[in-house]
Amino acid sequence: MLKTALLLAVLATAHSAAAHRGCGGHDMIKRNPGGPVIQRRAPTDEASAAQSTGCVETLCGVFVEMRSRRGRLRRADLPDPNTECAAYSYQPVLDIKANYPTIWQTATIQASDTDATSLFATINATLNSKLPNDLPHGTTTGNWTGVSYNASDPDCWWSWHQCTTPAASTGLPADIINVPEPMTWGLGFDDGPNCSHNALYDYLQEQNLKATMFYIGSNVFDWPLQGLRAMADGHQICVHTWSHQYMTAFTNEEAFAELYYARKAIKDVLGVTPLCWRPPYGDVDNRIRTIAQALNLSTIVWSKDTDDWKVNISGVTEADVDANYQAVITGAQNGTYSTYGPIVLNHELNNYTMGEFMKYAPSIMSAFKHVVPIASALNESQPYAESNYTYPTFEQVISNQSATPASEITTSAGSSATGAASGSSSGASSSASSGTSAAKSGTMSRATVALAPILAAIACVFAVPW
Ligand SMILES: [Zn+2]
Repeated sequence: MLKTALLLAVLATAHSAAAHRGCGGHDMIKRNPGGPVIQRRAPTDEASAAQSTGCVETLCGVFVEMRSRRGRLRRADLPDPNTECAAYSYQPVLDIKANYPTIWQTATIQASDTDATSLFATINATLNSKLPNDLPHGTTTGNWTGVSYNASDPDCWWSWHQCTTPAASTGLPADIINVPEPMTWGLGFDDGPNCSHNALYDYLQEQNLKATMFYIGSNVFDWPLQGLRAMADGHQICVHTWSHQYMTAFTNEEAFAELYYARKAIKDVLGVTPLCWRPPYGDVDNRIRTIAQALNLSTIVWSKDTDDWKVNISGVTEADVDANYQAVITGAQNGTYSTYGPIVLNHELNNYTMGEFMKYAPSIMSAFKHVVPIASALNESQPYAESNYTYPTFEQVISNQSATPASEITTSAGSSATGAASGSSSGASSSASSGTSAAKSGTMSRATVALAPILAAIACVFAVPW
């Protein structure tokens, strides 16, 4: 009894400490303190969404309009989200959404999805065999009250003590928290795509910066055009789950579905199958890592947290966030990153978080030799399962060579699509447990084929050299 009480006290302390330190997540409901309301569309909004915006019919016009908003980059001038966030319906999403879980709700395997059912059965058997004692922790909102957990951290649970290196016996690779290139900032943003991020994306474009975007599947369905812009701009896309909840609280099936359907949504809407993911709130353990690995998703966390998402939450102030940014910059100036580079957690969440990055970007670019997407900093020239899409190597990035235009994706996608409309766009193989991109032959869904001309049109107009 005493042992249990002690354990709970330790856990409560750890939880409190983690919360104070900033576990890197945020409550999606409270995620925009003091700022404009982030438009999170209700599951029933789609049918009544603003068909009249003309976005679907004049897709490129939307992008032109987005880009005409350049220059409004000062925080005070950031776009009015009520204008930026006019809801719209997008036919390719309407065409496939019946095959998906309801947006913003916990994902489960869809009854007709035989591919997912089969793949999960294999993964679940592995989990039950290898990690029978690694069970769900707490609730999906991160409430760990009453949770009993062994203080030795057998599950390498990040939320416990920020464990990122599973025991060798698990066969799991360590989470990615830094990049090997010296003096290099691995640039990424969490929680898009979102309607209010155009100013940030304009800024990145103007600065010739590409980033790794950790996209939420439900947001991809809500704001597909913004996601398509990211692709056209040359950003890297990683998975940030379907509904953005604490992953270690889910059952095996739910955790699988959260990753599977977010990845599938990115494939069906944006045309690529990511090979990386980031757990919301950093909440990952060996059970979740095993599921991610089976889906060919590398786990990327971070080594530095700006805490930008939690200003006015848990006592974090804007001065704290300034100090966090400055500390990383100072680190570059004092030699901390002479042999590697940090992956820094920041968000495209709201005007404040975007503005904060833009405020420090000149200093970051001055202090660091390179500011590049995580894939480039890791020298991963094929960040997606589709082998026909190549990404600039680190050397190519820093020498400013051109990336493969996005149009190449669509060309090959169209030619390789053979009516594989079953939704098997994941390309994941149950035997692909090595964590490598064994899914390079992933088939293309019919939705992707339908998107090909649209993507090609965007790439035609907007593909920009690196
Ligand atoms: Zn997030």
